Amino acid sequence: MFPGFKLECVASGLDLPVNLAFVPDPGENPEDPLVYIAELYGTVKVITNDHVIHTYAKNLLNYEPDYKFPGTGESGLIGICVDPASGDLCLSMLYEEPGGGVKAKLVRTSSSDGITMDSMTTLIDNIPSVRAAHQIQTVTIGPDGKLYVNVGDGMLHPEVAQDEQDMRGKILRMNTDGSIPDDNPYPGSYVFARGVRNPFGATWRKSDNALYVTDNGPEIDDRIAKIEAGGNYGWPETMRKGSLFWWHYTQAPTALAFMQGGQFPSEYDDELFVALFGSASVLGPAIKGKKIVKLRIDDQGVRSYDEFVKYIGNGPASPCGLTFCRDGLYFTDLHGEPGESGPGPAGHIFRVSPEKPVKPGAVPYTEENQSLCICKNCPSYNLCMQSKMQILFCSRGASECEVERKGCLCGECPVTSKYRLSGMYYCE
Ligand code: SF4
Ligand code: SF4
Repeated sequence: MFPGFKLECVASGLDLPVNLAFVPDPGENPEDPLVYIAELYGTVKVITNDHVIHTYAKNLLNYEPDYKFPGTGESGLIGICVDPASGDLCLSMLYEEPGGGVKAKLVRTSSSDGITMDSMTTLIDNIPSVRAAHQIQTVTIGPDGKLYVNVGDGMLHPEVAQDEQDMRGKILRMNTDGSIPDDNPYPGSYVFARGVRNPFGATWRKSDNALYVTDNGPEIDDRIAKIEAGGNYGWPETMRKGSLFWWHYTQAPTALAFMQGGQFPSEYDDELFVALFGSASVLGPAIKGKKIVKLRIDDQGVRSYDEFVKYIGNGPASPCGLTFCRDGLYFTDLHGEPGESGPGPAGHIFRVSPEKPVKPGAVPYTEENQSLCICKNCPSYNLCMQSKMQILFCSRGASECEVERKGCLCGECPVTSKYRLSGMYYCE
């Protein structure tokens, strides 16, 4: 673990949690949805503010998946994002045709309470694919309100990555109803950029309003690229065209995210964090993958590179999904520890946060901050605190009342984001 940070497990018992998407502006009630989790074999879970895990949707794949890693087990449901305008989810996944062929599609799901899916509509489908990696992958919504979809080259015919008529090996751009925007670089086409191979991860950077992706190479040259409209990133001739950085020996980079919300101290502002999956068949620590790295990157390339979190156990655990929430960097572990591995719910979600609050003692005891405090909704808030009319413990300090830990809502509180706090249980 990088000095000055701590690691906590916040959820367990997940089945191949391949990606996660935080609600952009979550509600304050304990039962409001906080984060959605895509499980590879067709289930979407949601964790609410009170840390309860619910099943939002299941059986989204219309075929029987297996657990062959590496191999056919690496495919299924991968992309997930929350539409900030509606709260709907956009999901990317494979499906099997009646004749046995495999295709890829993007769907939108709706829910009245955010906890259980009510309906699903297909945005695009019929994208050729295979039951293996290189499929349709991460989905994001850009600052322009458009959907951006990473699509792998389908593995068998890498030359399609250069074919402007084919959606494989591309970054696609579309309206949130699945139609083609008028201002796409190729008129009448979803294609936004071409020449990518197996682009698992995507994230938006506020400082330049640009999309950055990870793209997995063959035996060499996994890379990070900044995606420009109409750009050609070179595959299958090369993995280096248009790249800002590449690992010569493959590390299997999956998700990536910039620190741009004040979750870490200011010296980490705009640094990029990348999950390096490595190989699930390797037990214990590994030179290739099984870690999270942090990079300072600009248009000329990488300025610094550090290991941030590294696996030191004996099992197949490895990071995959990764994103920032208000109170830290969250990442998923697909395969768990020794004894947990194999078919079944062995996956976890971890949070990395600073050991010390980002701005300790910075919260003034004002009427506005008292009105924002959500301690009164917290399961740990007890009658003693209530009778003394105590709130805003991050400002006033710990309560004299005895506190039994039953959960803490501080991570979801607007005061936390306003003052860039990272602590919890200020009342005890
Ligand atoms: S962060 Fe402060 S204001 Fe928010 S719930 Fe916790 S104690 Fe209350
Ligand atoms: S500071 Fe205490 S009362 Fe307030 S949200 Fe956290 S645990 Fe609950």
